[in-house]
Amino acid sequence: MRYISTRGTAPTVSFDEVLLVGLARDGGLYVPESWPEFSEAEIATWKEFSYTKLALEVMFPFVSDALSRNELKGIIDDAYGQFETDKIVPIVNIENEEWLMELFHGPTLAFKDIAMQFLGSLFDHVLAKRSQTICIVGATSGDTGSAAIAALRNRKNINAFILYPHGRISDVQRRQMTTVIADNISTIALEGTFDDCQDAVKSLFNDLEFRDKHKLSAVNSINWARIMAQVVYYFWAALKVGGPRQRVNFAVPTGNFGNVFAGYVAKRMGLPVKQFIVGSNSNDILTRFFETGRMEIMDVQPTISPSMDIQISSNFERLLFEVYNRDGPRVADTLHNFRKTGILAVPMNILEKVRELFNGACFDDDETRSIINKTFIEKGILLDPHTSVGLAAARECRLGISEPMLVLATAHPAKFPEAVMRASGSRPTLPKHLEDLMLREEHINILVNDVELIKDFIEKRTLE
Ligand SMILES: *Cc1c(COP(=O)(O)O)cnc(C)c1O
Repeated sequence: MRYISTRGTAPTVSFDEVLLVGLARDGGLYVPESWPEFSEAEIATWKEFSYTKLALEVMFPFVSDALSRNELKGIIDDAYGQFETDKIVPIVNIENEEWLMELFHGPTLAFKDIAMQFLGSLFDHVLAKRSQTICIVGATSGDTGSAAIAALRNRKNINAFILYPHGRISDVQRRQMTTVIADNISTIALEGTFDDCQDAVKSLFNDLEFRDKHKLSAVNSINWARIMAQVVYYFWAALKVGGPRQRVNFAVPTGNFGNVFAGYVAKRMGLPVKQFIVGSNSNDILTRFFETGRMEIMDVQPTISPSMDIQISSNFERLLFEVYNRDGPRVADTLHNFRKTGILAVPMNILEKVRELFNGACFDDDETRSIINKTFIEKGILLDPHTSVGLAAARECRLGISEPMLVLATAHPAKFPEAVMRASGSRPTLPKHLEDLMLREEHINILVNDVELIKDFIEKRTLE
């Protein structure tokens, strides 16, 4: 499989280049040249497969020009060894045909582990094969950074630097990063906001000399390999509730649109899905888009589901590319305009196409807490705030109750203990492997928001 850019002018590249480069040279995102397809009969034969065996079937067509089946199998086995359950993603019934996909049993308690653990193992393999090293630099508002650190720690050919906004992430999130002891990992507590962290990372990448010297690379959610690893659990969950003969629905709490786009890919590959429902918090730019066909950037509002406090859903570009019939220049035009004016508008026929599959609803913090409370009182299930937004959206947008509704549970409630405690009156407990997290020694490196100081810091640590 070769990869093309959503903006149509970058050269096509192989899978390992997509992995290492991330963003295409024309500013677009990479997508496969065509979607691999499976028949319903073929998908049905995977019903009894383990998660890792299924992952091999679903992902192999995307990587076959870069890896052998056996290599991919090794990478997958390495990636999913550290999960709390060998089911990897347990599917739990709420009531009737309403199900939770528990995506939070990885090392850092959020769904991002599923793709990130795979990415760590994949990087390791590909870099060793090419005798290359890289330096990962990333900004995090909490979950991505800890997932990246857990996945990249002690990987021989990788150095990683993760920037987070000092004093602006939760204690659990910070400790999941600052208590990790590994020579190849450094965290930077930047005196600034998450946006300052992102801007600092952008400046590092824009300094081409520095970028080439240190072989900078990224693990953010625009990396195709992360999306690809997430496609697997859509197949997995559908197979557990009667698919592929039974059509299913998914409800996804959404920020960057990466997770739900992976679901769309599963559908394009042959999985029968009726609806994708997108849940947003008060940052409701996507919900408004599904209503009006218009996106308009506003200020980011802080909520109790911070991993969805996002205005620009970067992976939406991949869906736009599909509904524009893969017209790259048209996507480029639309997005340049969006950056310039803060407004993205699509014609009615395009909006109709999007609406055939997608719908969305948004909920403020009070509504989010109320669903957490109700689900705990009635079912004894503790939801984290992100999952709660997803469940609320599922109930609001569902078109019929006979088909299964799979709600993606994206974080463990103990990752957001204060919000969950306040909503439910019950304090969620950390799983065993993190029981002593609040007692572990932290290593905090506070830096002033100055790109030169960050560069010095990286230089020193890489040479050591
Ligand atoms: C990152 C994250 C999301 C949003 O996922 P996207 O792929 O950005 O849509 C939702 N919930 C949790 C807990 C997250 O960490």
